[in-house]
This record gives sequence, C-alpha cells and structure tokens, in this order.
Amino acid sequence: MVQRNEIESYLDTLLEVGRFKDYGPNGLQVEGRAELRRIVSGVTASRALIDAAITEGADAIIVHHGLFWRGQDGRLVGWLGERVRRLMAHGINLFAYHLPLDAHPELGNNAQLGMRLGLFADARFGEQGLGFAAPAGENVSLAALAGRVQAVLGDRAPLVLPGDGRALARVGWCTGGAQGYFEAAIDAGVDVFLTGEVSEPQAHLARETGVAFLACGHHATECFGAPALAAHLAVRFALEHRFIEIANPA
Ligand SMILES: [Zn+2]
Repeated sequence: MVQRNEIESYLDTLLEVGRFKDYGPNGLQVEGRAELRRIVSGVTASRALIDAAITEGADAIIVHHGLFWRGQDGRLVGWLGERVRRLMAHGINLFAYHLPLDAHPELGNNAQLGMRLGLFADARFGEQGLGFAAPAGENVSLAALAGRVQAVLGDRAPLVLPGDGRALARVGWCTGGAQGYFEAAIDAGVDVFLTGEVSEPQAHLARETGVAFLACGHHATECFGAPALAAHLAVRFALEHRFIEIANPA
C-alpha cells in the first residue's frame, strides 16, 4: 500500500511534468482515497474505462487522456459530470499525463511504440522535442515498415501516403494527433513519418516533398505508454496493476 501523495510526487518528478506546456493539467485530476493498493491503466478516462476500474476495485486510474482540456467551459455536467461523479462516488483517483507521457525516453508512448517497431531514437525534433527520429535499419521498404506497424498495432493497417518511393534511411514518429509535426519531421531529414492521425494537407506535403506518411491510429499508437508507466509503478511500489483496453477505431 502506498500513499497517493507519494505516487503523485514520484510521477511528477519521473515525467518532468513542470517542463511541459500542455493542453490540460498533468498529474492528479480527480482526488480519491488516500491509500493505493490496486491501479488500472488505460488510454483515455472514458466512462467505459471508469466503469471497468470500478469493477476491478481500483484505487487509481492512470491515463494518457484525462478529463480536462483547454477550451472547456469548466462545468461538470452531462457526460463529463457523469465521469467525475463515478470516480468520486467510488473514491478512485485519476492521474493523467499527456505530453510528459508522450515524451518520456523509456516509458513514454513514443519510446514504447518505437521499441516495438525496432526504432531507437537518436534525435528529437518538433515542439517540446516530442518528435522522435531513428535510423530505419538495413533495407527497410515502406511496405515492410507498414507491415510491421500493422503487426504491432493489433492488425490495424495504417493509411499510407507513399511519398516518392525513396529508400528509407531515417524514420520519424510522434504518437497520437501529431500530423501537424509532419513539416518539422521533413525538416529533420526523415524519409517517412508515422503518427496517429492524418488531415488533408499531409497528402499534398507527402507528394510535394517525397517524404512518406503513415497514419496509424491515434488510440492505437498511444496504447503503450500508460501501461508501461503503471507497470513501472506497480514494481516500484508493490501495487497490483491491470491495463484495460477500451477499443477505439479512431
Ligand atoms: Zn493523444
């Protein structure tokens, strides 16, 4: 058993929370009971995840996407009120780490996805160093890389914008909705960029710069950071931990 406050300060230090400018608060977002024994991790603090955590008897949930984002009006009504009410009624703490969890060099979403793809970053690019870049390895074709992505992400085939068919020397990636990092990736000298989502402009950029682009799923690319972090906590503080996957095609 460990005190909530101890976990909070440990995570804030481990993830260097103070270093990031983010779209929402990182750390403890909803305060539950003071002592933790069993934790659950997941990608998003959705009602489905909260309900699963209640069934698990969890004392805390650790997620990448929390409840509060810039631009909300602050009212706890409707679906948001329902999520908060369920957490509070069951004394469940909600810890959310957004950009700090993308960025962490070992436990973060980018590092964890890269590791599964055989990519080990030797450079970072883009805003707050959130983009990762690595050598592609010997003779990796775009089709082979797309196949590897599909295998790692539960047989989810990425959307492929092929570029000019060049040999892949360097791969850039940034999990989630990082399609806006494509230009920074191109400037950083990669031959292909992987992220979760795609928007209309990236198709033209891929054609005009020759750099390929893979949209691999926002949820799919961000499934690995929260459980890696929670598993680390579980070992360090002798907690029970379970990752709960709530499927999301987006
Ligand atoms: Zn995300």
